Amino acid sequence: MSRAQTLELRVHNLDCENEAAALRRGLAGAPGLQSITIFPKAARVTLAFDPAVTSAEAVSQRLSTLGFPPVRDPGSLGPPPPWKNAKVLAAAGSGLLLAAGWLSSLAGAADAIPVAIYWIAMVTGGWFFGREALEELLYEREIGIELLMTTAALTAAAMGLPGEGATLAFLYSISEAAEGYTEDRTRSAIRALMKLTPKVALVRRDGHDTEVSVEELVPGDIFIVRPGEAIATDGTVRAGESSVNQAPVTGESVPVAKRSGDTVFAGTLNGEATLEVEVSRTFAENTISRIIKLVEEAQERKGTAQRFIERFGRRYSPMVLALGIGLALLVPLAFGGEWREWITRATVFIVAAAPCALVISIPITMVAALGTAARHGVLVKGGIYMEELAKIRVVAFDKTGTITRGEPDVTDIVLLPEPVTALTPDEHALLSLAASLEIRSEHPIARAIVRAAHARGLRLAAVEEFRALPGAGGTARLADGSGISFYIGSPRLFETRLRIDLTPVAAQIARLQADGKTVVVIGTSDAPLGLIAVQDTMRPNAPAAISALRAAGISRTVMLTGDAPAVAQLIAARARIDDVFANLAPEDKVSKVRELASHYRHVAMVGDGINDAPALAEANVGIAMGTAGTDVALETADVALMADNLEKITEALRLARRADVLVRQNLVLSIAIITALVAGAVAGFLSLPVAVLAHEITEFLVIANGLRMLRA
Ligand code: ADP
Ligand code: MG
Repeated sequence: MSRAQTLELRVHNLDCENEAAALRRGLAGAPGLQSITIFPKAARVTLAFDPAVTSAEAVSQRLSTLGFPPVRDPGSLGPPPPWKNAKVLAAAGSGLLLAAGWLSSLAGAADAIPVAIYWIAMVTGGWFFGREALEELLYEREIGIELLMTTAALTAAAMGLPGEGATLAFLYSISEAAEGYTEDRTRSAIRALMKLTPKVALVRRDGHDTEVSVEELVPGDIFIVRPGEAIATDGTVRAGESSVNQAPVTGESVPVAKRSGDTVFAGTLNGEATLEVEVSRTFAENTISRIIKLVEEAQERKGTAQRFIERFGRRYSPMVLALGIGLALLVPLAFGGEWREWITRATVFIVAAAPCALVISIPITMVAALGTAARHGVLVKGGIYMEELAKIRVVAFDKTGTITRGEPDVTDIVLLPEPVTALTPDEHALLSLAASLEIRSEHPIARAIVRAAHARGLRLAAVEEFRALPGAGGTARLADGSGISFYIGSPRLFETRLRIDLTPVAAQIARLQADGKTVVVIGTSDAPLGLIAVQDTMRPNAPAAISALRAAGISRTVMLTGDAPAVAQLIAARARIDDVFANLAPEDKVSKVRELASHYRHVAMVGDGINDAPALAEANVGIAMGTAGTDVALETADVALMADNLEKITEALRLARRADVLVRQNLVLSIAIITALVAGAVAGFLSLPVAVLAHEITEFLVIANGLRMLRA
């Protein structure tokens, strides 16, 4: 067997689980297909196939014959226009026939004529949902809402009320036909992002500027972005200086200054000057494409409430049918009710109790909420995290890169009085040694040290066997054959792991730390050689962000850090964070988060998602900040904030709570109305057309309420 190829397609006509099931059935047994993943909410299908057996064209062809033609132009995704949509046409046809039947009976035609027209109207209106009802029953052995409606319509007609049956089929077919369009409204929130990326880019190849389609851009290409234009794909600025509005990615519209060496993202808007950008990611892999993909996947990841309602729905519909049959048989048999009367009431009951509004109330709100959040630069990875966010009571923060900017500067270099080797005769030699070790590390402190060495024009030595000690520092050997291992890291690394007595330098360390500086020790496994102090600045809006959280009802804010207590407390006090836990190794951060979670139940952890991933994973919600352009954090966090902005956390909480409120409103509304309708049906107050109409209106209200989430 040759290696599997994967094919990712957007297809038409796919927007619910039923259709996904039909598609899966249609593809089952297709030659060469190895796996099928369907994302109904996103109308996306991922297929793995064996290229030796079949081809991408053959697979697309097969999808088309199944009624799910692949979308060629992603911008045009969405339901077909109404006049080309079979479901809309069926509903319209049914309505016209219904009117014709009614007019013919008014005109005094022989009874058989309106009856025949009503039957045709019913079959036309019920064509799609009736078929779905049967397919579900036969293939999935499930009794769905469609079957309830089909049964009610047929019963009414069989009882000699074909007009009522036709009315039901007509009204229900309208809501079925409208479904695609409401789905489209929720999807448009996220698809709007896609529209922002241009279709072509001006590329400089062999000294010529040519327009190519964005899909043809490859890493290394240089493209020109003129003033006022949107940027085609992710890249690095190579020439020019301009300000860029990054709102489409980060949700923040304050322009950001960009110049040579800075990263720019697809879909963001160039300001006043021309930029030359080197492509770093192809169009398919750029940040905005990934955001869209992640949001679509999030929409499939349902929250607990939604899963509960769906499970409930699966048991509920068969129960309604059983109760309806019971009502029609039992009351006449046991209590001598009139057959005709009770069969009619049972039919009305089945329609009144159908849970359409209930089933749609959560997904419509969640999908809209996820899309709106993404448009504001907040990527929530599923309904479950949206639910959790709404409940958060405690927020824990990592220090470096989260409360502080994560761009420290070297402030002090301290040589210890008795250097053990001639390697560090002066401060420059110490800094050079430190940078030689740190060049292999990604840590912000490491980058500061390397930057300081470069700024002083120092030459770095070659090292071998570098090993990062997470939350502590790192170690390596100089590649000069001497075989000496050097260590760089926190004072605690030297004291506890290497068992080196630092009391001779304790006063110096304490003095630096009291100024809010992070102290790093450089030494061998036997003795320290020197100290380097770095200072990170707090994010200017940290105090505002913390008080905003408090105003939003967060009862406790906590800082977790591997840094020394003196430094941590100084920063926490300035940011007005309630509690500080310092000197924590990465695994201590995890257990601290667990402890907080056992105490407060709902804890969010905020970090940069790179060196604090375990703690983020332990929290109920792991929030990573500044994830635009970082692959790992974007993929692993539960909630990814595109911007490097602490205030987005409050925004995310508020969005989630609003979604929570709308979901509750929808649940209460639909349950209340269903209950009232059911009571009315059993008491005999309702006719079938009124029940169907009330049912449709409820569904409409629930959808309209859920869609309010599109406005932030
Ligand atoms: P934070 O909790 O502030 O994000 P870390 O857990 O990443 O910090 O690191 C904790 C401490 O370990 C730092 O304050 C520093 O003293 C030390 N350290 C970690 N990595 C390095 C490194 N590459 N170079 C020097 N010191 C390091
Ligand atoms: Mg960190």
